[in-house]
Amino acid sequence: MWAFAIIQSPKPPEHIPEVPIAYHHGYNITACGIEKLHPFDSQKYGKVFHELNIQGQYIVPSKCPRSLLIAVHPFWFLLSLCYSLQIFRAIEVPIFFLPAPVLRWRVLNPMLLATHGSIIAGCAAVTNRKFGINLSGGYHHASSTSCGGFCIYADITLTIYWIRRWYPEAVKKVLIVDLDAHQGNGHERDFIKCPDTFILDFYNDEIYPGDFIAKEAIRYGDNFNFEHTDEFYLEKLEIALRHCIKVFRPDFILYNAGTDCMQGDPLGNLNISSSGIIKRDEIVFTHSIENHIPILMVLSGGYQKQNAATIAKSIKNLNSKFNIYT
Ligand SMILES: [Zn+2]
Repeated sequence: MWAFAIIQSPKPPEHIPEVPIAYHHGYNITACGIEKLHPFDSQKYGKVFHELNIQGQYIVPSKCPRSLLIAVHPFWFLLSLCYSLQIFRAIEVPIFFLPAPVLRWRVLNPMLLATHGSIIAGCAAVTNRKFGINLSGGYHHASSTSCGGFCIYADITLTIYWIRRWYPEAVKKVLIVDLDAHQGNGHERDFIKCPDTFILDFYNDEIYPGDFIAKEAIRYGDNFNFEHTDEFYLEKLEIALRHCIKVFRPDFILYNAGTDCMQGDPLGNLNISSSGIIKRDEIVFTHSIENHIPILMVLSGGYQKQNAATIAKSIKNLNSKFNIYT
């Protein structure tokens, strides 16, 4: 007797833990020591998690299933990740000599976990009507059809796709607030002509990626450099958030909270202090909570060893103000 597989659309998670923070110890990337060749502190997720000392059940993602990925990434793109050279191009370390199964285990699997973490933490934000935090993710250089800059899966596009699909009454208009030092060209390319997605991007225009096509998707953008102080940056941010929320009236905020704009970062080349980063995050959360807009925060870039301590301090500060996990 012939049996035909019925392809069912994935369902939203049935149970979301009370603590809306996603973390898996597998987020941390190790690949026989070669990860040290990249300036990225690939262990920062675990350091942040341990600093937070979360009591209670948090979100533990699984590897993002293909049934979710395929909604955004075409099959040929996923197939191309079977080849070491393609992964090498994206993460920019000389790993092309490693066999693909090793790469899948050490590089792709952490990113698949983090991608699922963004999606589930996004669901948590929608269902608790407040917030979710993924202690990884924010792969803002990855689009549906291309990867680069240490980003492979387009977790931002995927999260927006699935929360719109699963909670259509609650989420129609999404505001992306991208405060990583780099231009978020991945999600920008994906939402370039999408009126229901508003992109606010603060970045250093003199560094990677300089994607002029993607810039067309930015509806509120500002460029910063090493000369700009915390005060200048935070004042611009206040004005920007007030304006974007007023004119666009989003149902959901996806906050790409990269910390590579912090002083001393060799790639971001901006000059925001650690306390400036903490204030920045508080400003974004305050605007979202005062306007009753659910927010998902993802960590994105931040390449120095000291970034984990600042991120943990910032999330503790958010918790003290907004009761995120206690
Ligand atoms: Zn960055």
